[in-house]
Amino acid sequence: MRLSRYFLPVLKENPAEAQIVSHRLMLRAGMIKQAQAGIYSWLPLGFKVLRKIENIVHEEQQRAGHIPLLMPTMQSADLWRESGRYDDYGEEMLRITDRHGRDMLFGPTNEELITDIFRSHVSSYRDLPLTLYQIQWKFRDEIRPRFGVMRGREFLMKDGYNFDMDYEAAMRAYDRHMVSYLRTYERMGLKAIPMRADSGPIGGEDTHEFLVLAETGESEVFYDSAITDLKLGDREVDFADAAQLRAICEEWTTPYARTDETHDEAKFNEIPEERRRSSRGIEVGQIFYFGTKYSEPLGASVQDAEGKKVDVHMGSHGIGVSRLLGAIIEASHDENGIIWPEGVTPFHVGLVNLKQGDEAADAACEQIYAALNIVGLEPLYDDRKERAGGKFATMDLIGLPWRITVGPRGLKNGVVELTSRRSGESEELPPEDAVKKLAEIYAPHLVKSL
Ligand code: ATP
Ligand code: MG
Repeated sequence: MRLSRYFLPVLKENPAEAQIVSHRLMLRAGMIKQAQAGIYSWLPLGFKVLRKIENIVHEEQQRAGHIPLLMPTMQSADLWRESGRYDDYGEEMLRITDRHGRDMLFGPTNEELITDIFRSHVSSYRDLPLTLYQIQWKFRDEIRPRFGVMRGREFLMKDGYNFDMDYEAAMRAYDRHMVSYLRTYERMGLKAIPMRADSGPIGGEDTHEFLVLAETGESEVFYDSAITDLKLGDREVDFADAAQLRAICEEWTTPYARTDETHDEAKFNEIPEERRRSSRGIEVGQIFYFGTKYSEPLGASVQDAEGKKVDVHMGSHGIGVSRLLGAIIEASHDENGIIWPEGVTPFHVGLVNLKQGDEAADAACEQIYAALNIVGLEPLYDDRKERAGGKFATMDLIGLPWRITVGPRGLKNGVVELTSRRSGESEELPPEDAVKKLAEIYAPHLVKSL
């Protein structure tokens, strides 16, 4: 992409309405625009990151054997009356009446709708286990929408639902989700810690929230610092191997890690003092097991091998896709702007031409631009007639992890400059070596389209 042709409405001034750094930087970098309280338009740069995050979520869900589908945002109130939640859900649910006087709602979550799909089409134990998921907009009429996309009213969520024959099978689904979530967040360059949590209005027995540590987080968390050293890295995970999944979950759930709702002071004090931590965290996902809470009232049962009807055991599992943009920025920025992890960056590299209009510099930039595209990378080429300082400031603000700087002086020696946004370190090297190096850096991060 050439910056002169792109739509990147960066702001020079700090927007007054933004209280936290991620919100401020998303507005300044031209990623989002508020449409109403808690409702945002996703401008091209923000939309690109949103799509990258979605792609990672899709890949990791499908790697775990979960099947994507798409349900509507608008739901019928009748279905929610069947589960008893239409009255229970409270003011966060946006209720609407259509022209025929029928009650509808903008879905805050989808347990009822998915259970209705299941009961209409599945009747035998042979069809289980089954996990279906979607990435779809949700609406919750939050009393205090704030912090930009972190607590919106309209927000994008991955929500997945498992259907299993019994408790043991449902717990295998639970483990599968936990491990797939760990992989998902790691690919986004995030450390998200699973913490034992409280089940809230969705209701359930076993539940973990995934929290990214950040001062601006809304949750208070308590944990053993040992948990922050854990990493999946590039270990091979076989999602069909229940024992391996259990072992990984054991590894992550053994060190103490809880939110304030389930915090147990006595247990916490058993941790060696130097490893006791309390801080704040951003909830970026949650997994639940809730048994037959919805299958029973909605009649979602299957016949077992003996022909006996059993209510299926279910769980639901959410990832805050749009909130993740804010969480990643909270975890990765400096005073000059965002620092995107390679896995989610909107463009892989910024190409800065120090002297637009100089024949040699223009030609070299064109060549590098083409070479980057050939190796499958997406450059953002700042081809505007601007001062170098202004170009650098824009690149730093929007946070591309790598920058190639091209100028007449370097070209005389056959080199360009490759700079890391994170470390600030630069090296001079021939243009083809810079391209090669970036291709290597990004090889593990290139998202295949599904
Ligand atoms: P919270 O406690 O933050 O209100 P929740 O526990 O009600 O969230 P879940 O039902 O667990 O939310 O939804 C799954 C995920 O969706 C959450 O882990 C969070 O990352 C995201 N999410 C929930 N509410 C919002 C919101 N208002 N804006 C953006 N993301 C949200
Ligand atoms: Mg939650």
